Amino acid sequence: MSELNLILLGPPGAGKGTQADLLAGDFGVPHIATGDILRAAREAQTELGRLASQFMESGQLVPDEVVIGVILERLGQDDARDGFLLDGFPRTLEQADALGHALDGQDRGLTAVLLLEAPDDLVVKRISGRRVCRKEGHVYHVDFDPPKNPGRCDRDGSELDQRDDDREQTVRRRLEVYHEQTEPLVAYYEERGLLRRFDATRPLAEVNAHIRAALATLRLEESL
Ligand SMILES: [Zn+2]
Repeated sequence: MSELNLILLGPPGAGKGTQADLLAGDFGVPHIATGDILRAAREAQTELGRLASQFMESGQLVPDEVVIGVILERLGQDDARDGFLLDGFPRTLEQADALGHALDGQDRGLTAVLLLEAPDDLVVKRISGRRVCRKEGHVYHVDFDPPKNPGRCDRDGSELDQRDDDREQTVRRRLEVYHEQTEPLVAYYEERGLLRRFDATRPLAEVNAHIRAALATLRLEESL
């Protein structure tokens, strides 16, 4: 069986994390999220991890070479031998190029880049409608999963809050950054014939089924 090397792209609120976890379970490849990897590298005190933490502690962005190095180190680990699912990397064309060269150098290649598409207004509605209870962190949504009593947790009666990260203004700002950084990547992978688009306005299970079907087709084509 050939490797299953995947990149997940999509705006916040498109369900990337959930799809990544489902696919990791379905196909037995690790879900590699950039933030988690940088934290893990710091904790493991690898040379690159120490370098990354120096930048993070001084409040600077971790430079591309360091992020790329940490990601490549992770892709070289045993559990990623049969494939990986990258989430949050690459974010820039420079990172995409570096990843492509590094994979080429190891005789590995990308299987596909999965783009989860959702319009900005839906993303804003999904995220800004979230409410979290103060006591236990139970999550609700004002439209899609409202509590029985407005503003109160069904399970422990504590007050529901909106997280700062979930406020509309914050979400709109994250979306701006996403469009600015990610649209060039969409074109980049489209030119290379790797991009597959999925309608993330559909229910999670349906999106998962579409992705699995697309990957099955890709593997079938590969084996012909
Ligand atoms: Zn609660």
